[in-house]
Amino acid sequence: MVRKHQGIIQSGKNKGKLKKGYYYIGKTTSTGLPIIKNIQEKSNKKNNKKFVKNKSDKKKKIKQNGGEIISPSSSPDYSLRQSKINKMKQVLEDAVDMFTKNNIPYMLSHGTALGAHRDKTFTECDIKQGDLDTSIFSWEYSDIKKLKEIIKNDSRFTLSKIYPFKYNDIILPFTLESITELSLIHNEHKYNFDIFFIYDFNDGYYYNYTFHGLCDTFKDNRCKYKIRKFEKEKISFFDKEYYTVPISFLEDTYGKEDWKIPKCTTYWDRLKTSPNMIRDVMRYNINDIDQKLKINPNPCNCNTARCDYRNYNIKNASNKCCVNNLLSTLGFVLNFFDKYNIPYCAVRGTLLGSIRNQKFIHFDTDIDLGLFEEHYTSDMIEKLQKEAMSNGHQYQNRGSFFSIAFSRTNNLHVDIYKLKKVENYYIIESIKNSKYYISDVLPLKKSKFEYFYINVPNNSIKILESDYGKDCINYFENKK
Ligand SMILES: [Zn+2]
Repeated sequence: MVRKHQGIIQSGKNKGKLKKGYYYIGKTTSTGLPIIKNIQEKSNKKNNKKFVKNKSDKKKKIKQNGGEIISPSSSPDYSLRQSKINKMKQVLEDAVDMFTKNNIPYMLSHGTALGAHRDKTFTECDIKQGDLDTSIFSWEYSDIKKLKEIIKNDSRFTLSKIYPFKYNDIILPFTLESITELSLIHNEHKYNFDIFFIYDFNDGYYYNYTFHGLCDTFKDNRCKYKIRKFEKEKISFFDKEYYTVPISFLEDTYGKEDWKIPKCTTYWDRLKTSPNMIRDVMRYNINDIDQKLKINPNPCNCNTARCDYRNYNIKNASNKCCVNNLLSTLGFVLNFFDKYNIPYCAVRGTLLGSIRNQKFIHFDTDIDLGLFEEHYTSDMIEKLQKEAMSNGHQYQNRGSFFSIAFSRTNNLHVDIYKLKKVENYYIIESIKNSKYYISDVLPLKKSKFEYFYINVPNNSIKILESDYGKDCINYFENKK
């Protein structure tokens, strides 16, 4: 169940966690949900000296690498902090108990190891965010099926996410490397606890991965991190012995000197500054886009109009520049949907291209996505409009649907239609004869589309055949 609260992160790695500046007050609502408040709100209400003190402390904080240096007086009050630490201790003990009972060779890693090595407690940042990290050497334990079973049978935890779920479907074959992170929630304290898998590709280093945000622009839509080879260490932490990664892991992950400085950065900020992230394989590699595409000697860009496209037919390929610009607009839209956890689905030509060739159709001129009507809200549209603008794109209202254009002057666009529920099917009002049975649409699957993995209906072929005719899947191939 997703809980929508402005104080809770709604998507991404930290989904379900508290945003900076929010805290659990220790009481619950009538429906049993823990009540969340803004620290500022609380201080404002009290309107006491403490608030003034915090405010002046805030000014003293030094910005470094996008992170804030934490001064102890800026953290929530002592008893709240202490109760959080106690809860986190419990979550850690429960996690390690689960590992130990099942002979799973774990180690503390990332923020939790940073706390154990450096602070001898949880880091201020993790206390704020209620986050615990562990890792497993993939060669020491790789039975994901069994691990899922173990978690399922442990009443203390719920498995909330397996990364990347994107690859574990019919589109790509299952590989061991495809499971790189598991996210668990501690049922009692609602804290997050992540298990990362570390890989060894025999090149002298170890590697691990994270997902979302900037990672969507890298190879396989994930961030890859290089770590010097190391051995697990034992560490005494809260009077108990734990296995942990060594300091070399922290140096590689957070920076040779930077790891020593307590500061709280968001996952999204760390993506930008991470010293050991491998950034060389970008998604928009022009050479990989359909060879049929034309090359315009004067490629269009965000400051020009789009290239002419009047001869729209199977023989007339689009320009590479246009396809690239469309894909970059699509990238923005997909990141937005991902960030806010908004389910969408490819429709029309985009769906056909994805299912038939995993590619943009070489003579197509736009990209078509459908949005389920419950997510097609003025609130969401307003947010999208704002973010589109700050990314150089333009929102265009088209009545019963809307578009995100590449720019104000370049009208290449992603169309976003409303999937309206009527009885047991969806319709798109602006497209004649569109009728998609819910049972053919849900649950959504992932399918490759150029460098993206996009949502497609469960029974895409049936939907395409009703939109384009029985032969649509083979038609293009026959004509070649
Ligand atoms: Zn162009």
